[in-house]
Amino acid sequence: MLTRIYGTVFPTEEELKKHLAQLELAKEHDHRKLGRELELFTVSEEVGPGLILWLPKGNIIKEELEKWAKETESAWGYQRVTTPHITKSGLYHTSGHLPYYQNDMYPPMKLKDGGEYYLKPMNCPHHHLIYASRSRSYRELPLRLAEYGTCYRYEAAGELFGLLRVRGFSQNDAHIYCTPEQAVEEFVAVMKLHEHYYRSLGITDYYLEMGLRDPKKTTKYHGDEKMWKLAEKMMREAVSKLDIKMIEKAGSAAFYGPKIDFIIRSSTGREFATSTNQIDLYMGDRFNLKYADKDGKEKNPVIIHRAPLGSHERFIGFLIEHFGGEFPVWLSPVQAVVIPISEKFAAYGRKVSEALISQGIRSQLDDRDEKMQAKIRDAQLQKVPYMLVVGEREEKAKAAAVRLRSGKDLGAKTVTEIMETIKQIETSRIIDLWRWTAEETT
Ligand SMILES: [Zn+2]
Repeated sequence: MLTRIYGTVFPTEEELKKHLAQLELAKEHDHRKLGRELELFTVSEEVGPGLILWLPKGNIIKEELEKWAKETESAWGYQRVTTPHITKSGLYHTSGHLPYYQNDMYPPMKLKDGGEYYLKPMNCPHHHLIYASRSRSYRELPLRLAEYGTCYRYEAAGELFGLLRVRGFSQNDAHIYCTPEQAVEEFVAVMKLHEHYYRSLGITDYYLEMGLRDPKKTTKYHGDEKMWKLAEKMMREAVSKLDIKMIEKAGSAAFYGPKIDFIIRSSTGREFATSTNQIDLYMGDRFNLKYADKDGKEKNPVIIHRAPLGSHERFIGFLIEHFGGEFPVWLSPVQAVVIPISEKFAAYGRKVSEALISQGIRSQLDDRDEKMQAKIRDAQLQKVPYMLVVGEREEKAKAAAVRLRSGKDLGAKTVTEIMETIKQIETSRIIDLWRWTAEETT
């Protein structure tokens, strides 16, 4: 019998120590472990493997992210649409996903009348049909259609992994329909949107990976040589206008064109492919999409595919590991816990908590019959950003003693100041826990 033993060697003890510390951090930040401890999500064999059940706390993160994406993308010129979860098989023959992509799709539902429906594995064809729902002029391009689209893919059972590889997911998706002259500029804007999102979340470690054709298997791909070369040229031109490192990978293109993935690295060193971007010169023709150009001629629009925040599932998996569960205030499921030092101050504690809730702050009162230190420890384990301790002195001063989850004690602050500060930090979506300045929000 042959036994293979793998080993890793480090040039210095220092590097070995760093590596071991990183492994330890990865274990502590594991999104499946924290997902359980912080009650964010679960899966059930009765529902099916790879299908996520979002618990109330995890769902807050999901909805906050979605709200952020909607606000941001509306400001960046996107319009929102909604498309169904199931679709007749013919659409996937038009898109070319059938038969090539069939193994990655759930088997079809066969109807009595002979119709055959699939769970949608992606949103692209649906958005193309919305584009095609009426005639279009060059004047309305670029047209940017966005949706948190819910998709299902039949990933192999052995590949499923927590939130990172699932069978059902909601994607921060959009398709941009534009003229060839607009494509590079639009693609640059898409890349800048990624950078805006990542910067806001304190993600600084990322790079691009360009997926090209496998030169040995050219029959696997649709479209002609000219189309592939042009799409590649346009994407390279867009990337050259930005300061982001890019590597190339042969064989990982989509079947209808090259693609560029954003790879982000979490604080534990784990890499996540979050978003796939494409300048697609193929599907416009395949779906017979048209626009009337300035010269009066009918032309096919260029289609840009993008999903900066990936899917809720994978992106929240990333955020859990990146922050180790210590989410920025705006994403924290519980933002403040009010802790009375004894039962005598429970009524005042309730008043403080209710005042915070009336301002839209997610606050809870911990009036359990436990020692104050135990309550602080529990709130810290739940990674709650603010612990507001109240006793006689605080009640008299209409105040609370503020403790941050980092362990920092800020002393007594008036309830008004606490509410205003938390609200400002929340609405400006900064990472800092207490200090707030206008500069930090830009
Ligand atoms: Zn797409």
